Amino acid sequence: PEFSWVDINGLIKETLFFVGQHPEARNIHRVKEFARDLPPAWADVKQIQQVFFNIIINAIQAMEEGGTLTVQTSRAINATGTDVLRVEISDTGPGIAPAALERIFVPFFTTKNQGTGLGLPICKQLVEQHGGMLKVVSKIGEGSTFIIEIPVQQHPS
Ligand code: ADP
Ligand code: MG
Repeated sequence: PEFSWVDINGLIKETLFFVGQHPEARNIHRVKEFARDLPPAWADVKQIQQVFFNIIINAIQAMEEGGTLTVQTSRAINATGTDVLRVEISDTGPGIAPAALERIFVPFFTTKNQGTGLGLPICKQLVEQHGGMLKVVSKIGEGSTFIIEIPVQQHPS
């Protein structure tokens, strides 16, 4: 991996723009709720972009036309008391049933005809390699939120 200081809001903006070019995403509303003054992440930019990309593509594939994709960024103290950068990617898709929710991070679990079932396991591994966590909250009929947390590192000043 190749670590550098990464502007997470900028990277998400780029990813959303790129994904928005795709016909499948044309009629999906894209909402950005970005924290101002978000500290940079100490991260491998290609790996983190791959994480955003995979999760955003899953969200778009889960939604019908007219759905809303919301990407929110914040800085927070998480459940384990760690200072983290948090990225929440939410969709208004069908949600994930409890039985599937237990398996989405298992390699090769897919409900898609052309799916590989590798996207989320790889995302989880990449986030954990950054000392972070990948979590999901989902409710049938309402949608899903994937939460990426990366520890804030002290920026050398
Ligand atoms: P793939 O996209 O190739 O199926 P992933 O590992 O990316 O593999 O996702 C695994 C499975 O998790 C998907 O097949 C789908 O059933 C479920 N899933 C992932 N993201 C979402 C989402 N945003 N909404 C509903 N289901 C999802
Ligand atoms: Mg996928």
